[in-house]
Amino acid sequence: MMVDNARLAAKKALVDKPKCFDLLSLTDSRSPGTLNPVRVIDTVPVTYVNDGTLDFGYSPGLGVDGRISILPGFYFITFDPAYQNQGYVDPSLYFDLPAVQLSVADMQLVVILHELGHLTGVNVHEGDGRAPLLPEEVGQEFNTQIYVNCLDQGAAYQ
Ligand SMILES: [Zn+2]
Repeated sequence: MMVDNARLAAKKALVDKPKCFDLLSLTDSRSPGTLNPVRVIDTVPVTYVNDGTLDFGYSPGLGVDGRISILPGFYFITFDPAYQNQGYVDPSLYFDLPAVQLSVADMQLVVILHELGHLTGVNVHEGDGRAPLLPEEVGQEFNTQIYVNCLDQGAAYQ
C-alpha cells in the first residue's frame, strides 16, 4: 500500500544517500539511538487520520516514541485551497526552487521525510498548518533540502 511504499522509499533514501541521512539526523552518528532516522522510520506507526489533526501529527523530537499521522492530502496532489488544512503539498509553496514537479510517489516521500524530521528533531517550524499557509509555516527551507538531498531529481541542485 502507498504508506508502506513511502516508508520504504524514505528508508532507501536514508541508506543510499548520506546527505539525506545527515539532513534527517541531529548528529553525524550512525549509531542506532532512539533518534536515528533509519531506526525511527522502521519503528513508528504511520496511520491515516481524517479528524482535523494538522501537520501529519507534529510531535517534535519524540524519535522512536512518536508517530506519523497521514492526512487526506497525502494521497493526491491538489491545488484546491480547501485542502490546505488537509496536508496537501503545493510545490510552489513547499519548495524554494523554481518549477519543482512531483509525482504522487515523490510527494509522499517528501511528506514522510518531513514528518520524520519532526520526530528526529531537525525539523522545527512555526505555524499551525492552517490556511493561508506561508513558506515558513510549511518548513519551505527544510523541504527544499529534502528535495535536493533525498530525491533523485533533486541532486542536480546540490
Ligand atoms: Zn511540519
